[in-house]
Amino acid sequence: MSVNQQAHTGPPYGQPQPGYQGYQQPAYGGQSLPGAPQSQYGAYNGPMPGYQQPVPPQGYFPSLGFPSKGSPVSLNSDTSSLAPNFIGSLRAPPTSGAPPPVSGASHPSGHVAYSQFEHGDVQNGIPASAAPVQRPPASQPFLPGSAPTPVSQISTFQQYGPPPASVQQLRNHMAGMTIGCTAASAPPPAGLGYASVPPVSGSFSATGSGLYTPYSASQGPPLTSVSQGLPLVQPPFPGQTISTQRLPTQVPGFTPPPPSTGVGPSSYPPTTGAPRPPAMPGPPLPGQTVAGPPSSQPNHVSSPPPPSTMAGLHPGPPMSGLHGPPPPNHPPQPGYQMQQNGSFGQMRGPQPNYGGAYPGAPNYGSPPGPPPPPKRLDPDSIPSPIQVIEDDRNNRGSEPFVTGVRGQVPPLVTTNFLVKDQGNASPRYIRCTSYNIPCTSDMAKQSQVPLAAVIKPLATLPPEETLPYLVDHGESGPVRCNRCKAYMCPFMQFIEGGRRFQCCFCSCVTEVPPHYFQHLDHTGKRVDFYDRPELSLGSYEFLATVDYCKNNKFPSPPAFIFMIDVSYNAVKSGLVRLICEELKSLLDYLPREGNMEESAIRVGFVTYNKVLHFYNVKSSLAQPQMMVVSDVADMFVPLLDGFLVNVNESRTVIASLLDQIPEMFADTRETETVFAPVIQAGLEALKAADCAGKLFIFHTSLPIAEAPGKLKNRDDRKLINTDKEKTLFQPQTSFYNNLAKDCVAQGCCVDLFLFPNQYLDVATLGVVPYQTGGSIYKYAYFQLETDQYRFLNDLRKDVQKEVGFDAVMRVRTSTGIRATDFFGAFYMSNTTDVEMAGLDCDKTITVEFKHDDKLSEDSGALLQCALLYTSCAGQRRLRIHNLSLNCCTQLADLYRNCETDTLINYLAKHAYRGVLSSPVKTVRDALINQCAQILACYRKNCASPSSAGQLILPECMKLLPVYLNCVLKSDVLQPGPEVTTDDRAYIRQLVTSMDVAETNVFFYPRLLPLTKADVDSDSLPAAIRNSEERLSKGDIYLLENGLNIFVWVGVNVQQSLIQNLFGVSSFSQISNALSTLPVLENPFSKKVRSIVDTLQGQRSRYMKLIIVKQEDKLEMLFKHFLVEDKSLSGGASYVDFLCHMHKEIRQLLS
Ligand SMILES: [Zn+2]
Repeated sequence: MSVNQQAHTGPPYGQPQPGYQGYQQPAYGGQSLPGAPQSQYGAYNGPMPGYQQPVPPQGYFPSLGFPSKGSPVSLNSDTSSLAPNFIGSLRAPPTSGAPPPVSGASHPSGHVAYSQFEHGDVQNGIPASAAPVQRPPASQPFLPGSAPTPVSQISTFQQYGPPPASVQQLRNHMAGMTIGCTAASAPPPAGLGYASVPPVSGSFSATGSGLYTPYSASQGPPLTSVSQGLPLVQPPFPGQTISTQRLPTQVPGFTPPPPSTGVGPSSYPPTTGAPRPPAMPGPPLPGQTVAGPPSSQPNHVSSPPPPSTMAGLHPGPPMSGLHGPPPPNHPPQPGYQMQQNGSFGQMRGPQPNYGGAYPGAPNYGSPPGPPPPPKRLDPDSIPSPIQVIEDDRNNRGSEPFVTGVRGQVPPLVTTNFLVKDQGNASPRYIRCTSYNIPCTSDMAKQSQVPLAAVIKPLATLPPEETLPYLVDHGESGPVRCNRCKAYMCPFMQFIEGGRRFQCCFCSCVTEVPPHYFQHLDHTGKRVDFYDRPELSLGSYEFLATVDYCKNNKFPSPPAFIFMIDVSYNAVKSGLVRLICEELKSLLDYLPREGNMEESAIRVGFVTYNKVLHFYNVKSSLAQPQMMVVSDVADMFVPLLDGFLVNVNESRTVIASLLDQIPEMFADTRETETVFAPVIQAGLEALKAADCAGKLFIFHTSLPIAEAPGKLKNRDDRKLINTDKEKTLFQPQTSFYNNLAKDCVAQGCCVDLFLFPNQYLDVATLGVVPYQTGGSIYKYAYFQLETDQYRFLNDLRKDVQKEVGFDAVMRVRTSTGIRATDFFGAFYMSNTTDVEMAGLDCDKTITVEFKHDDKLSEDSGALLQCALLYTSCAGQRRLRIHNLSLNCCTQLADLYRNCETDTLINYLAKHAYRGVLSSPVKTVRDALINQCAQILACYRKNCASPSSAGQLILPECMKLLPVYLNCVLKSDVLQPGPEVTTDDRAYIRQLVTSMDVAETNVFFYPRLLPLTKADVDSDSLPAAIRNSEERLSKGDIYLLENGLNIFVWVGVNVQQSLIQNLFGVSSFSQISNALSTLPVLENPFSKKVRSIVDTLQGQRSRYMKLIIVKQEDKLEMLFKHFLVEDKSLSGGASYVDFLCHMHKEIRQLLS
């Protein structure tokens, strides 16, 4: 093996790595990096010229009895006059050299352009007074001598939050209710706050010795235990006294409903005997009633029901069903008079304890005419996501999160913060549902809190943070435990003077290889501790040896194959021309490694409808050659040499091809497409080239043409809410599962861009992208004018993003727990290895853990995620992430160290997988039940005795009900009438790969009052809660959920604002066909566009911009995202759901 011959040409990601030159040991030299030789296909060079075919009509033709099924078509000009599809120079379209169609869409230069992190966006918020992180006393976080757990890191140390004040009091006098307050029964030990570490920038800077400087005691900050000038957890409200602790939240208003409501445990809301409206057609089921809407929509301002209907019996709401007609366009209504704070109208009249008016009701006036309906709970008194997010930003946004301490709960995903790796992986790579996990299985079961980690192994970091260092141990490869094969990490303990180390995962003792030996200092720590990333950092990479490569052979650089549907729809919509134009420039931006001058990735091109067309774009050709394969039953690749090429070498031939493709198929009448053979073709091409790669497939229709993987239209909305609903999420044939398996084996990742005008069975077409770690993008009713910008942005991002190929991920854990379940876009052929043909920087895998033994508070628990992958230059690498967690014997410690956003990520993925095998209602009920148990367990074991009727939520989980409700009413679990089967399948797959930040904003969208934005500041306006009653008709709002951006314009917005933002003089002139905001030279327009750009930059996909005018028909769509309100599809309002959860909890406690 010829390794260690060639020095690295640069740091792995082209980013300076100060101080780590010591690790840039000689790399392997046996592998050609850029531009793999084409000669390897020499054997195929011969036959090509012999395949000349005459006169194929329509851009394709059947194979004419050649021995080979390939039907090559020469595109040389001397034959072009013979056939319409000979695309030689005579037919060269006039488009060559035409500019890319998208104006203003400048290509980013290099792969940093799509950074998710806006410059200057990294730290915001005020200096924290309440978010100190306590360092271990010696400020040397990992002492090998005392590893794996310094005594100072016992679990009690890890409480964060202030020393417990005794109680959290939330008193609320509304409606005559006095809400008591209780203390947690197990408050953290006094004095155990978490202390702070000052910014430590520069700690990794180079020193004279070429090493990075460790944090030393002298650099450490004084142990500042900041006594907290506590910020308010909730907005001060009249009549409320709130003290903020990391302690339970008691929700005011939850004095016990009388037990005599006569409603079953899962029924909801408590109604005395009144028939509840069924949520869905069909018999009312307990689970459905949770969200059962009345037929009228009291929350919707544009549809104020007359009082009589609100009091009526709701014999089966026309709106609640999925087949119901769209809601009528109600005449404009004068404002918000009908707001009832999420109530059920008179349905909830007979609820004594929730009734009664409350002071401080929003100023929306009272309903004219009818008597005011009974009110129950002030929405301002229940936990507010906005407030929690804001508090965390203020408390934790200003100081770096230093990962040196075991079991620290990181700041929320909505907080901008810097991370300093001191031995645990950054929360950008791993987040956990809890950072303090129960010592025993019994305890875990009792709490019902799922133990899960959300892992994003190749996450993009902000420029201020250091990318994982690449460690090269030469021919011997990474040092690993002999028994469990865990990789060397900061928690391994060196013994016997450094000659052996004891594994922190399995306790096995392994000899230190001679080349890796190093002496220990007096504390038992290796003296090269800080020189080696794998000893001192939570995340790093190893250069893999040939042992880690398929067939014991270093991989070739990967290839990208662009496969374009050229059927009638694709051509007619302008899509084909758009893609070809874009590719001409986009191919110059393929991912590059480090400071390589050009990408090592080779490219190939296929077009298809019912047959496939391959293109020879070999650099030596004057014109591209087309080869048609019409026998799609047994797909093969008719050419090898010249199919996958280096962009620079074949530049002119590729440009010519991309110019000609739109012309060639301009007159096609072919409407049918194949799909599976397209993937097979790409797979075969990669196999033949012996490399991994990615297929970019642009597809428009249900593949009904005769071919393997042919599909039929089986969309049937009548299945919704039946036991067969799950079939809508399942593929209609297992063909694609088998194909996916083959793709994964080859490292063939599939990214699918869909442009449907009707049902095309995303559930089936998505199988291969999903199981290969690819992405699906969907542009329904694609229109060039409105959708091209979004599509092109997605395409550019997708092509340029960092991706690892042929990846295998394994998560090792210390004794006592193990990874038992996995969620995400991948394939598993056994129970431990997560295989991904491709894994990009946005893909997340959620891993669930279960106990298989007892854990100890002393040693805690460890996770090690190892990802083996091939880089975009063909380098085989291992990326390692380590995380240490605390373990507890007290449930209160568990509840105090949970992270609700991560919990929701797990619960949503779990539920979204559940719908594949269980009725949706069962899945929803299980979700509600699990969360009720989580909260009931807390109430029973952690909250001090108090009235059983009080709802007491753990501080860290006080948003669990509101977020859970958002999951329950999401399109997958409770579709509205406008949601298609394809939409649901698409969302289901999308969410499964989302990270915590993405699920957070997806389920609880961000709502920003644009008219409140400070045009002179860079900051975003403060978000408000997602409820219609928070909207003022004199304002303009922006709502984003990661997929869409809505700009909602109130009917009373000042004319000048309308003029400034939309360039029209009145509300009525605003076009809701706009897909971008007009570029106008005024501060408000600039500010709003800058906000939109900021948000777009933070998301992995380009969000669709939708203009919504108040009282316009599109407003229904917008209101769907006001998730604190009752939804059209029957989803409960936040207030109602909280009441329901409370009932469920009380039921469990009684
Ligand atoms: Zn081991």
